[in-house]
Amino acid sequence: MQTAPKLQIETARVEDDRTGLSIETLKRAFLDNLFYIQGKFPRLATQHDYYMALAYTVRDRLLQRWISTAATYTEQSSRTVAYLSAEFLMGPQLGNNLINLGIYDRVQQAIEELGLNLDTLLDQEEEPGLGNGGLGRLAACYLDSMATLEIPSLGYGIRYEFGIFKQGLQNGWQVEFTDKWLRLGNPWEIPRPDWAVQVKLGGYTEAYLDANGHYRVRWIPRQVVKGVPYDTPILGYQINTCNTLRLWSAQAPESFDFEAFNSGDYLGAVQEKISSENLSKVLYPNDNVSQGKQLRLAQQIFFVSCSLQDMIRILLRQKLPLSEFSQKFTVQLNDTHPAIAVAELMRLLVDEHGIAWDQAWDITRNSFAYTNHTLMPEALERWPVEMFGQMLPRHLEIVYEINHHFLDEVRAKFPDDGDRIRRMSLIDESGERFVRMANLACVGSYAINGVAALHTELLQKDVLHDFYQLYPEKFNNKTNGVTPRRFMVLSNPRLTHLLNDTIGDSWVQHLDHLQKLETSVEDASFRQRWWEIKQANKHDLATYIQAHNGITVDPESLFDIQVKRIHEYKRQHLMVLHIITLYNRLKANPNLDITPRTFLFGGKAAPGYMMAKLIIKLITSVADVVNNDPAVGDRLKVVFLKNFNVKLAQHIYPAADLSEQVSMAGKEASGTGNMKFAMNGALTIGTLDGANIEIREEVGPENFFLFGLTAAEVKALKASSYNPWNYYQSNPELKEVIDRLKAGDFSGGNPDLFRPLIDSLLSWDNYLLFADYQSYIEAQEKVSQAYRDRDRWVRMSILNTARMGKFSSDRSIAEYAADIWQTPSVKIELTDNARLSR
Ligand code: PLP
Repeated sequence: MQTAPKLQIETARVEDDRTGLSIETLKRAFLDNLFYIQGKFPRLATQHDYYMALAYTVRDRLLQRWISTAATYTEQSSRTVAYLSAEFLMGPQLGNNLINLGIYDRVQQAIEELGLNLDTLLDQEEEPGLGNGGLGRLAACYLDSMATLEIPSLGYGIRYEFGIFKQGLQNGWQVEFTDKWLRLGNPWEIPRPDWAVQVKLGGYTEAYLDANGHYRVRWIPRQVVKGVPYDTPILGYQINTCNTLRLWSAQAPESFDFEAFNSGDYLGAVQEKISSENLSKVLYPNDNVSQGKQLRLAQQIFFVSCSLQDMIRILLRQKLPLSEFSQKFTVQLNDTHPAIAVAELMRLLVDEHGIAWDQAWDITRNSFAYTNHTLMPEALERWPVEMFGQMLPRHLEIVYEINHHFLDEVRAKFPDDGDRIRRMSLIDESGERFVRMANLACVGSYAINGVAALHTELLQKDVLHDFYQLYPEKFNNKTNGVTPRRFMVLSNPRLTHLLNDTIGDSWVQHLDHLQKLETSVEDASFRQRWWEIKQANKHDLATYIQAHNGITVDPESLFDIQVKRIHEYKRQHLMVLHIITLYNRLKANPNLDITPRTFLFGGKAAPGYMMAKLIIKLITSVADVVNNDPAVGDRLKVVFLKNFNVKLAQHIYPAADLSEQVSMAGKEASGTGNMKFAMNGALTIGTLDGANIEIREEVGPENFFLFGLTAAEVKALKASSYNPWNYYQSNPELKEVIDRLKAGDFSGGNPDLFRPLIDSLLSWDNYLLFADYQSYIEAQEKVSQAYRDRDRWVRMSILNTARMGKFSSDRSIAEYAADIWQTPSVKIELTDNARLSR
């Protein structure tokens, strides 16, 4: 028999338009994509068309690395991190990919030679806002670091059709708009319909005997939903590794219910399609609070089941037995949002693949690791047993079975301790019954970590104390980190050039090399350049503020900034109390010599969180009064920047003088914004909370403005019946601030507008603003003094950047890999075709 001739694909021996990196090739590829993908020619093209053409040009260059990476992992059956997260707050992709490919400058030149402007094109990108804040952004930083450290990884999440809402302001109040981020297309994703999977929901279970006479359970669902994966390449920094973010989109398995359709029930026929697609329709816009909604549970099982089925597909394709699941994959649970994975993997192994319970449990327990992200009690996820059972009848049985074995284990170690059993049970039976997702995550994982030293300590002492006593060996700390590629190189090119000129560019991959800057602190010309760079960044932000808020701010003033989700525990309103204090002082003494400040706020309030929305109204109302009072002049300005997101954040961190990290101690798990500010040379005013503590340790207490109660003091004060009224009565400046608010001085004479906020402060003040007020005001005096001594300030600023090495997400990921995942790095060589074309 004659063998068919082998297909020959001619290997390109010259630079080709999809891989080449010379300026000429980049220009040709760009115009080619404009023509063939956008279907436009320059006279008709919009700036967005140009952005798309450039994005495709860059994506082509990622693809050769992506395919080489996938091929290598497949050949070597590499151990892989599956990072399960309901949120990935990626930020714009184009600029970051240019940095990581190492072609930023070249592309800039190519674009300019074509008569266009790269900044304008970068600005066209609609960011995928598939997260709420810190947790989702952390997942994105970790993808960057895993790729940069050559760790095989897959990020798994949901391709929400609408991400976090867009925030507008109307009369100073937050208004929400749908985030239609996919409206103009997403050039970074590739759909993989051939790897779609099905997820069951609702219905009932029934027992049966299989062909071997074994007792089995099958689940007859009420609804089946199809999950279609969309893949985004995640390139490491100047390296060939290109990992994958795989996001699942929900579809109905059939477009129509033909039976209903044929009987004339058109709306009924599309009903199923609508309800299926709802699963990936919208991100729940809550940060640090769980709403307990049915659709949210459906989203969780949807992406978790899709992801686990996908991992099993990969395992089987590599001809590995299911018993090796936990050798092939380590599955990191980013908070409890994906914790249902513990029950779902059991179901897949036992029901669908016929593995015995005990063996399946061994596999499961060795596969998962759980990151806790919060100390807020309202964020701990619990699902009413009834709702859970209706949607996931089989999972409820499995949870009960796991619980049965688990509580036996607890009883064996702690006999006759009924209280402990009640606390640790996977089912809360104290009233209405709930499934406790954190407990399920703790039982089903081989490692449990907090995200900063204090947070892990508080988990062990308090929130997860019982689990710590049972499984001390599972607990470990992994202090968060952030990627210096996006938050320094891309966001702050001026600083990057100065750093590269001074110490070389190795700090981008080894952030601790920033230490080499310490010797430059004594160099006056270096300090001058440092100052000028900050001024230039502030100038850019002032231009943005002028354009977007119509407010003129002075770049010479101290830029005092708090940007993060609006939440009472984060205490944006503490900053407002300080602003009103300064305002009162100026009103009483118009000639007072104060350090001019520009106060900047940004952040979204959950749409249903009334107090957070009132805090935004408070900020904008105070801004209206302060900014327009001639007695104040240019000495104080207050600005609320609307729609804080990653894109805007990248303009803000480099322009900050002062970073406000003022949460009540014991509430912020870590924070990551605090790191982004400090590495860009902002000084921090902060409490001993989350990673602030470690930042202060690193930069030195003399380069950090500390105030407020410690977590232990907070606990003690709360235990001793705290009374905010006493602080109000005994502190004349605080009293004047509150009295002015009460009198309606910032609400057009309306004493009712801020009443809910004032009443809550005067009556219970859950987050101890009054207790920390005086200490905060005094620390702010020190800030003002320090800023007046420019030389001193610049030295402190340089030392902050120089000592932030610890807070690279590369350090965090290296620790996860060494202590939890045991994932060796894998070198990626480009395929021949690619290598030849470089
Ligand atoms: N929201 C966005 C858009 C961010 O980029 C960040 C970054 O850290 C956060 C929220 C988290 O801020 P923080 O850690 O200060 O709460």
